[in-house]
Order: sequence, then C-alpha cells, then structure tokens
Amino acid sequence: MTPTLTDPFGRHIEYIRLSVTDRCDLRCFYCMPEGFTDFETPEHWLTFDEIERVIAAFGRLGVNRVRVTGGEPLVRKELPQLTSRLSALPGVEDLSLSTNAVQLAKYSEVLRRGGVQRLNVSLDTLKPERFKAITKGKLEKVIEGLMAAKAAGFNPIKINMVVMKGVNDDEVEKMVDFCLKHGFTLRFIETMPMGDTGRNASDQYIDLQIIKKRLMQRYDLVPGVMPGGGPARYMKVAGTDLNIGFITPMSQHFCETCNRVRLSVDGTLYMCLGQDHNFELRPLLRNGISDSELEAAIIKAMALKPERHEFSDKPGQVVRFMSMTGG
Ligand code: SAM
Ligand code: SF4
Repeated sequence: MTPTLTDPFGRHIEYIRLSVTDRCDLRCFYCMPEGFTDFETPEHWLTFDEIERVIAAFGRLGVNRVRVTGGEPLVRKELPQLTSRLSALPGVEDLSLSTNAVQLAKYSEVLRRGGVQRLNVSLDTLKPERFKAITKGKLEKVIEGLMAAKAAGFNPIKINMVVMKGVNDDEVEKMVDFCLKHGFTLRFIETMPMGDTGRNASDQYIDLQIIKKRLMQRYDLVPGVMPGGGPARYMKVAGTDLNIGFITPMSQHFCETCNRVRLSVDGTLYMCLGQDHNFELRPLLRNGISDSELEAAIIKAMALKPERHEFSDKPGQVVRFMSMTGG
C-alpha cells in the first residue's frame, strides 16, 4: 500500500507545488513590486539534483502530483531538463506547469515531449494596452505562447484570470468566448492579500459570486467537474466543453480540503499560502541527510500544517508576495 502523508487535521497531502525561481519576466502589479530586486541568491537555489531528490522522497510518501511554478518557471535556465527528470520519477503521476506563457512559444514542444501534461496560464486581459498596464509585458507573446501550447497538444490548458474591479471585470464574458473558441478551460481567481502588492490590490477585490451571477444571465451554467483535485469549483457552459472554475480563497475558503504543500526555490517547505509555518529542507540536503532521514523530516514537517489561512481576519499577516512562495 502507498503510504500517505497526513496533517494534524486528517487531511491527506498528495500534491506539491514546486517553485523553481522567485524571478519573473513580468511584473503583475498584484504580485511582484515594480523595481523589485531582492531575489534569492543563486547559491540558495535548490539545484536540479536536490529538487529531484526532494520530489522523489515526496513521491515515495504518496505525493504523486507535482506542479512546477514560480515566479516564472520558464526563466529558470534549462527548465525542460528538470521537468523531464521529474516526469521520469516513479512516484510522479501528474506533472503540470503554471506559466505566464511569455516564453511558451519557444518551450512548448520540448516541455510536452518531456512529460509535462497540463498547463495553467495566467491571462487577465485580452487588451494589449491593459495587459501592459497590469503586467508591464506584451500580450502578443502570451497569445503566441498559448497557440504554440495548443498545437503541442497540452490538454487541458487552463487560463487563470485574476478578476479585479475596475481593472478587468468588464472582460469576463470576452474571456469566456475566447476560451470557448480555443478549447481552453477558464478559471477566475479572487485577489489575495499576499504581501504589499496583493494588499494594495485589495481595493480591486471582487467577490466571484457576483461574477458567477452575471455570467448566469448570459450563459446556461450547469454544475461541472474537472479532474485535478484543485480548489476551483466548476460550472460548465451547457452544450459546450467549457468548464469555468471559480477560485474563491476570500469569499468561500476551501482550507478543509487542502491537499498541498509548497516548496520554494531556496528549499523551504511552506505549509500554507496564507501562513508562515515552514520547514527548511536545504540545510538538511546540504548536510548529507540520507533518503530515509529526508522522508522522516518531511513526515515531521506535516505536523506544522495550520488549519486554515487567515486572509480575511488578518490580511496584514503574509509579508511574502505570491511569486516568493510559488503561487
Ligand atoms: N508566473 C506564473 C503565472 O503567472 O502563472 C506562475 C506563478 S504566479 C505567482 C501563479 C498565480 O498566482 C497566477 O495565476 C497569478 O495570477 C496568481 N497571483 C499572484 N498574486 C496574486 C494575488 N495577490 N492574488 C491572487 N492571485 C495571485
Ligand atoms: Fe510573474 Fe506570475 Fe507574478 Fe505575474 S503572477 S508577476 S507572471 S509570477
């Protein structure tokens, strides 16, 4: 029988989000401060060998789903080499990637061949000027990347749209139509008060229940399901293949079903996106820990997982912004 990692609240941990860098080639205003340069020093980055060791240990402990994220994972040099190595690990059954798609046109084929099965792509707007205002980047690169990913056969491709009042909430219907046209899955996300950037964006926070009601006036939405075990609650547009997910950490938190932990680029295991509970694996890895000791350390770390985030009760509490933890 495969062992399972369990936390003090009886939740099974079967999913790890692996941040391979805290750097990014965009600057989404709700995520990373403009002009930010205080990145983790390269000596502290886990090497590909160290990452492979940790993910293999998680795999032996029953964590068979891995999402590679960041920062922007594609800015980490030779990322496809790492994803190929991870997908070949016996414990890894599902390997996916979260990306802003800026460099996806270049890497889609090699990532797909190397065993990445599913992609999540951030896209908050379909208007080039607005895209520039939100991210400081070029929309055309992202669209190019998305089309390359579609041609490379990724399925599903999930579009993640952070919906913000007065910023892009007028585009949700356009995004539905875009996803219908291209066969993408769409997920709306509520802004979270992660770091000062996330907190500054709280003025633009919008409860997704409002968006859902608005969409119901235009589309026939019926309850939907998507494999993947994530926190999104799905609705399907009747008569189509389009699933629309609502990720509502603020208006309806989903902590009771949380099944994940996060490993940051410096080898810190974060137990919750919205809390500071963590366990440092890097010192152990660099002090010659054995594989069985590594597994024991991971099992011990699970005891630190808190019951829930406190984004609403204590919005000032998380000083890390999203790209530091691995969103
Ligand atoms: N760079 C990749 C990307 O953008 O998809 C992966 C990392 S990014 C931190 C992961 C997700 O976190 C993105 O979908 C982004 O929109 C979301 N995110 C970042 N800051 C956020 C915030 N304050 N509230 C809600 N979502 C946030
Ligand atoms: Fe970069 Fe992703 Fe954060 Fe945007 S959301 S700044 S693309 S890490």
